[in-house]
Amino acid sequence: MDIVQEAKKVHEDVIRLRREIHQNPELSFKERDTAKLVAETLEQLDVPFQSGCGGHGLVARFDTPGAQRTIAFRGDMDALPITEETGLPFASKNLGVMHACGHDIHTAMLMGTAMLLKRCADKLTVNVRLVFQPAEERPPGGAVAMMRDGLADEGIDEIYGIHVFPLLGTGQFISRPGPFFAAPDTFKITIVGKGGHAAAPHNNIDPVPIAAEVVTALQTIASRTARPCDPMVLSVSTIHGGTVFNVTPDTVEMTGTVRTFSAELKETVPARMHQICDAVTRAHGASYELNYESGYMPLINDAGCVEKARAASAEIFGEDSFDANVEPMMFGEDFAHYLQTIPGAFIMLGVGGDKPADAAMLHTPRFIPDEEAFYRGPALFANIALRA
Ligand SMILES: [Zn+2]
Ligand SMILES: [Zn+2]
Repeated sequence: MDIVQEAKKVHEDVIRLRREIHQNPELSFKERDTAKLVAETLEQLDVPFQSGCGGHGLVARFDTPGAQRTIAFRGDMDALPITEETGLPFASKNLGVMHACGHDIHTAMLMGTAMLLKRCADKLTVNVRLVFQPAEERPPGGAVAMMRDGLADEGIDEIYGIHVFPLLGTGQFISRPGPFFAAPDTFKITIVGKGGHAAAPHNNIDPVPIAAEVVTALQTIASRTARPCDPMVLSVSTIHGGTVFNVTPDTVEMTGTVRTFSAELKETVPARMHQICDAVTRAHGASYELNYESGYMPLINDAGCVEKARAASAEIFGEDSFDANVEPMMFGEDFAHYLQTIPGAFIMLGVGGDKPADAAMLHTPRFIPDEEAFYRGPALFANIALRA
């Protein structure tokens, strides 16, 4: 059977389901109606499934008599607290919530995979699990919850996930063996000084210039603490202090993110941040508070699984369809949690049209993916399963 032709037959269904989810986005841990739509679709397809796994998660099961191995495919279901500005006819009806990370597409493509596998179930030699996961966007994340709630006992031998990516031409797949995404930690720093009249700074401890010094000094962690070949990012992303021009504030608050790949560096960074905050604030008679939150683990792909995915794509879409040798990226993903115990591969799928360089990025209010790519996810998943 021609898997691409079969995938094109479910393309319209994937687009329709994705638009329905897009219009009704739900935040992390609250994906009730999305899960209901998935359940109804699986019921119509007569695919057995378990719902309520790790919150609103679902696991669909294709069991093959005599199968020795089980392959899983994962799609996440949650949206982001962003107000949509796409102007699309099927834009979010839930004010302040938007599918700006494409998880509506991931869920729809996984339902498309169920439709496709239903058509070729007689050719499968492995068991397949379709993992509809809640709460990717908010630590501790839905992957941990689903694994704890029984997914870890399904005997999954390999797991694959696809994430859409707008900065990539429509239909192109990319991945890499080994470290692909970083560990995304977050922090909040409060510089505590002493407020007063801005015309008499000698009577105050002004936290504003101290905060500026801290921001500058923190950059030396990436440039002077980390080994040059061990990549990391430290971004101070917000900074707030004061209310009016003639008063220096008591405090300045900053938040940001740290991205690392190595466990060693992930541990070193918060200790260095404490040293810097402590030394700089003490030099000025101020003090500080640092809340450092460890996020997801770095996402480490299994080389064998990346090659299986690449070969599955090359077979149906041509050799150039899958670049398995891209550079690591500093994004974070809770798919990393599955890869701690199950070999697998996380793959990006281009949805950026002909001019991906101009496309709006994920997590922005004007993210508009190219729907033309949507049959490719189910086709790749199904072909990985068929070749297993
Ligand atoms: Zn996201
Ligand atoms: Zn995402």
